[in-house]
Amino acid sequence: SRSEITYFGAGPALLPTDVLEGAAKALLDFNGTGLGIAEHSHRSELAGNILKEAKEDLINYLDIPADYDVLFMQGGGTGGFSATLYNLVGVWVTKKKAQISAQLSKPEDDPAVVEALKNAVETELKVDYLITGSWSKKASEEATRLIGPEYVNVVADSRKVNDGKFGKIPDESSWKLSKSAAMVYYCDNETVDGVEFPGFPKSLLPDLDGNGPIVVADMSSNILSRRIPVKNFSVIFFGAQKNLGTPGITGVIIKKNLLAPITPQPDVTLLRKLGLPIPPIILQYDIIAKNNSLYNTLSIFDVYIAGQVLKKLLRTYSNKVDGQEAVADKKAGLIYGALEAYPDIYRIVPDKSARSRMNICFRVAKGGDVDAAEKGFLKEATALGLTGLKGHRSVGGIRASNYNSIPLEGAEKLAKFIQTFASS
Ligand code: PMP
Repeated sequence: SRSEITYFGAGPALLPTDVLEGAAKALLDFNGTGLGIAEHSHRSELAGNILKEAKEDLINYLDIPADYDVLFMQGGGTGGFSATLYNLVGVWVTKKKAQISAQLSKPEDDPAVVEALKNAVETELKVDYLITGSWSKKASEEATRLIGPEYVNVVADSRKVNDGKFGKIPDESSWKLSKSAAMVYYCDNETVDGVEFPGFPKSLLPDLDGNGPIVVADMSSNILSRRIPVKNFSVIFFGAQKNLGTPGITGVIIKKNLLAPITPQPDVTLLRKLGLPIPPIILQYDIIAKNNSLYNTLSIFDVYIAGQVLKKLLRTYSNKVDGQEAVADKKAGLIYGALEAYPDIYRIVPDKSARSRMNICFRVAKGGDVDAAEKGFLKEATALGLTGLKGHRSVGGIRASNYNSIPLEGAEKLAKFIQTFASS
């Protein structure tokens, strides 16, 4: 039964039982309205309030500055790969057009401006990707698919410094950043490979005047688990299904200066002339922002669950995300500590400098036969109610996902099992 297991799956992940109990009731009859929450109109006052509170609670919990907006979108983390590309290329084109028009003292729609812009796109436009694991690799592949390889610059690739495998973040001195990239993209926590950035990369920091690269991060698997310097980012996105809620919504934290009317999206005719992709309207940040995340039907049920998770976090930790960060660190420390105590039995996959606090990836080599040892490990763990520990199918091994809803006792139980399995 639910109370007997601790589920370490990588996502969808465990959610707090009391939140789900409340949600089960709300699905049938929301607040005595006689109608379930998924049946109410997404444009009703009631839905509007759920959305407003979830947004405010996220802003409060993460201390998101006032010059940022929060959007709830669809399409998951994968939708975020495409959305970031489309939108930030759009912003680059818009800014460049204004710049060229000022330089030439000609209106923006003048043929000379369009010609110069076309030239700038061909010679200057770049999107920068840091490839540190399977998800940033996928994001860069999506960019290549949408816009073409000539525009995609790989800043660094972990596999080049780690025997062809992910598990390390290349030293920043080796990064090859483009001049004025439309964005620099990275994945803060690589769910499959267990690699997490220890902090915000120094080479992406803004200068003293606040000017810096346009930084975009995928935080699908570590959002809400540690404090983030939001002001250094242009866009942060995250699928909800790990630390925040149920699958179905994607959170976006976006700097308001990337949204209309300050930077309106370039017109479709212009994009066509420039040979650049036109974003589907559902992925256009400014459209979603203008419509308060309700351009089309949004799953208010999923927003409600995320909102309830946030309310619980705010009730639990008076110091908000710092409180959760301390617990996440403690739980990860317990599990890594147990693994490190038996170096002959366990091999932690990523380098110590880039170990994820959220997805703890390791191999088991008891008796020399890794496959048999891992099967045995999983079988015994499952018998104890420790489930969802199988590594991603692309890399194998064991992966313990240590998301927010894993209680301290769950991590302690796993750490203890790691010890007993090794010494038995
Ligand atoms: N980014 C990261 C870091 C992920 O872990 C995942 C999914 N596990 C994705 C993106 C893709 O998310 P989705 O399945 O919601 O498209």
